[in-house]
Amino acid sequence: MTPLIAHRFRLLEQVPGLVHGVYTRHGGVSLPPYATLNVAWNNGDDPAAVGENLFRVRESLGTRFLASSLQVHGDDIHVLNGNPPEEDDPAGFLMRAPSGDGLVTNRRDVGLMIKIADCQAVLLVDPEHRVIASVHCGWRGSVRNIAGKAVALMRERFGSRPQGLLAAVSPSLGPCCAEFRRFRDELPPAFWPYQARPTYFDFWEITRRQLMEAGLPGDHIEIAGRCTVCHQQDYFSYRGEKTTGRMAAVIGWKSSPKH
Ligand SMILES: [Zn+2]
Repeated sequence: MTPLIAHRFRLLEQVPGLVHGVYTRHGGVSLPPYATLNVAWNNGDDPAAVGENLFRVRESLGTRFLASSLQVHGDDIHVLNGNPPEEDDPAGFLMRAPSGDGLVTNRRDVGLMIKIADCQAVLLVDPEHRVIASVHCGWRGSVRNIAGKAVALMRERFGSRPQGLLAAVSPSLGPCCAEFRRFRDELPPAFWPYQARPTYFDFWEITRRQLMEAGLPGDHIEIAGRCTVCHQQDYFSYRGEKTTGRMAAVIGWKSSPKH
């Protein structure tokens, strides 16, 4: 089995004991239209194939568990606490968290997984208190400022200082392809200046602004800057393909940090 390809962020790679990756669509076993590394179990793909794909992602990441929610384009964020995981899958490594669009934990050995095809995965880390979050952020999540809510939750529950957090934004829908013809109905006026050209919105910059308004320094935010619609040979794209797979964006603490 060839190693999986993943986008990794320079800011996150500097944190001892942290593992992360935004995986491409390559390296799995699913058949078209989910070919090949689809990690969503609710979009029509063969469950056995999805299970093998999840196993490969976990092996690549190096954590004991993967945790993921049924994502609903809302703004509920769940904290995974210190209780033992519910191992409700045959392979015994997948923790199915409650429905929602964000996960936060300070547990070791759990990869927090967001499933994406054009939506952003926003990965957050507090190196000081050793807390991580992963957030699923499509345009509805942007409207609800779920990234800012994740920062607030880390602050309230774990004492995180926003100015100490690091953030990364996955490959996702870019300003080249994010056309919103009905933006006056769908997007708040605060977003309207973020048009790269008329009706095309820069959600990468919108997320950057929301994170900075939540207290993160600008140089603590890394945006992959790769558009999933433009690069469908490597990424699943909902806008480009409609029926398609979902990619894994994962962040976790290794069980045995090397420091
Ligand atoms: Zn594009």
